[in-house]
Amino acid sequence: MTRLHTVAILGRPNVGKSTLFNRLVGRKQAIVDDTPGVTRDRIEGICRLGRIPFRVVDTAGLEAGPEESLAGRMRQVAMQGLAEADVGLFLVDARTGITPMDEEIAAELRRQAKPILLLANKSEGRIAEAQAAEAWSLGLGEPLLVSAEHGDGLPDLLAALEPYLTADPGPPPAEEAEGGAREPERPLRLALVGRPNVGKSSLANRLIEEDRLLTGPEPGLTRDSITIPLVWQGHRIDLVDTAGLRKKARVEARLEKLSTSATLRALKMAEVVVLVVDATMPLERQDLTIARLVAQEGRALVIALNKWDLVADPNATMAEVRRALADQLADVRGVAYVPLSALTGRNVDQLLPAVVEAHARWNRRVPTSALNRWLEAALEKHPPPLVQGRRVKIRYATQAKARPPTFVLFANKAAEALPESYLRYLATGLRETFDLGGVPIRFHVRHGE
Ligand code: GDP
Ligand code: GDP
Repeated sequence: MTRLHTVAILGRPNVGKSTLFNRLVGRKQAIVDDTPGVTRDRIEGICRLGRIPFRVVDTAGLEAGPEESLAGRMRQVAMQGLAEADVGLFLVDARTGITPMDEEIAAELRRQAKPILLLANKSEGRIAEAQAAEAWSLGLGEPLLVSAEHGDGLPDLLAALEPYLTADPGPPPAEEAEGGAREPERPLRLALVGRPNVGKSSLANRLIEEDRLLTGPEPGLTRDSITIPLVWQGHRIDLVDTAGLRKKARVEARLEKLSTSATLRALKMAEVVVLVVDATMPLERQDLTIARLVAQEGRALVIALNKWDLVADPNATMAEVRRALADQLADVRGVAYVPLSALTGRNVDQLLPAVVEAHARWNRRVPTSALNRWLEAALEKHPPPLVQGRRVKIRYATQAKARPPTFVLFANKAAEALPESYLRYLATGLRETFDLGGVPIRFHVRHGE
């Protein structure tokens, strides 16, 4: 049984949160208590999108004592509601326009790593429509115009919510939020993959040895264990799937074939994957195949150019590698590559910093406002192609999730209308602008109207 996705409704008093909640959940379920003094920090109900049920939480609860700052309490309740949600609906009142309290909440929301849909409520009628445009200034993307009271814009709202309600729910967000900065970070899971004889085992041993020199042998750690914990500058790194590597090192050198299933198994266990290649024959067909597999599985990639001690002309080799990457590995443009020698140990200390950096990129959240500023420029520079004489319009984008970075494009046409080459153009721009090199980027296209 998977957990239900949760949508939190946020906003200052009187913007229409309860009204929207009632709309989504139905009057029967809504337990609205208007008795003064009754604290209603949150009200929950179940809504349905097609066959997908999801939980809706209204974070009203503003019966604060007079001595308490309303804005402060508001923020606290809203953020708490958001912490437990997969996506937040931030309501503003299109009739009154944006208030300082809206701006304060928006500033807080922009700091959160949670997707937010901005709703300009009470948008029925023309005047409101003009006012609603003002909500752009909150830096949370394009406002969706809705009227909770009249039901206008609800189909659009549900369509916009869909990607957040169908994504793999993963661990409950509340746990992540509670873990926060206080708990030690979970170890980064790292795998070494590559063709036979490129030096994976040697590199694994080298990393383990160097770590042991620093931290001393750990009691009870068997060297054949599948996961070997390392620490690099306070970062905990689990080297996964090392049993096979370590055993292999003891086996006499023999002719081996690349085992795709073993590679896949290692990939699935890992967050960051180091593709070890033999620098004396860098980026052969099989190396590229593995690199693409890493991208397909949505993992972050780093390339280790091993056996650098055998490279006669480092400059020429570097140029060759750069060219091969640019030509053949567009899926992970900007990937980090580290020349090193597992044999001599030279430069091996450069590998883990690149791994930690790749992991950070893989986890990156691009703020909606910056994303849409970039998108506008990118669309202007290269508009999407015409389809049957009509231009596909991409209205805005949000990042639905990280690990790997996944973006939702809201367009006036179905996904098929955007050719792969155009999505690649956008991915390249995103990588360059938001430092997402070496990380696969995913798109979902949603269309409305
Ligand atoms: P909350 O404090 O954010 O929960 O706001 P409520 O849901 O209690 O709504 C505040 C007021 O705005 C009520 O009088 C609602 O009837 C009204 N309201 C809510 N949605 C709309 C809307 O779409 N249009 C208009 N004109 N009024 C609305
Ligand atoms: P694996 O099959 O990828 O695990 O590769 P191994 O770690 O078993 O290494 C294959 C061969 O390459 C062994 O003979 C290693 O000694 C050798 N080797 C590994 N790393 C280096 C290196 O950095 N430089 C040199 N010259 N030889 C290396």
